Amino acid sequence: MTAEEPARKKRTAVLAEPVPAAPVGKTEDQRVPYLLDFYPLEEARHTRVSAFYENLRRGRFTTTRCRHDGTVLWPPRVICPKCHSGDLEWIDLPRSGHVYAFSAVLAGAPLGMESEVPFVVGLTDLDGSPLRLFGRIVGRAWTECRVGMPVEVEPFEVPGERVFYRFRAKG
Ligand SMILES: [Zn+2]
Repeated sequence: MTAEEPARKKRTAVLAEPVPAAPVGKTEDQRVPYLLDFYPLEEARHTRVSAFYENLRRGRFTTTRCRHDGTVLWPPRVICPKCHSGDLEWIDLPRSGHVYAFSAVLAGAPLGMESEVPFVVGLTDLDGSPLRLFGRIVGRAWTECRVGMPVEVEPFEVPGERVFYRFRAKG
């Protein structure tokens, strides 16, 4: 080692300080254990796709698209898996779609959602987009849901100053 070479530093991991999550649920018994809650990891200091939630809070439903080959990515990413380009842009997605498939949750709901049983989840094809997205479907009893049913993307507030999207049945 010459005098010009910097002294080798001891390798130390730089970890973000853990941030306790605001509990989900209005009452104590509806709260979700922190270890199951990944929402705090969506903040800007943890991920470069946090703009998805910031846009959603403003009523925009967005994702990233590769400027090199035009691939529309879901979920939003910072690298195109097709061409490995990091030159991506944020785009607005269509808000309307049609149900490709769905399922009713009649038992065994995730923690914090037990009181909402029965509810519907499914895959929706966004109109004019190559994307088929998974999400909750609301606004129609599960017995009345149908494949091909028109739906609309609906951003909504989640307790704890959070935001997410769901699909609402039209008509
Ligand atoms: Zn690409």
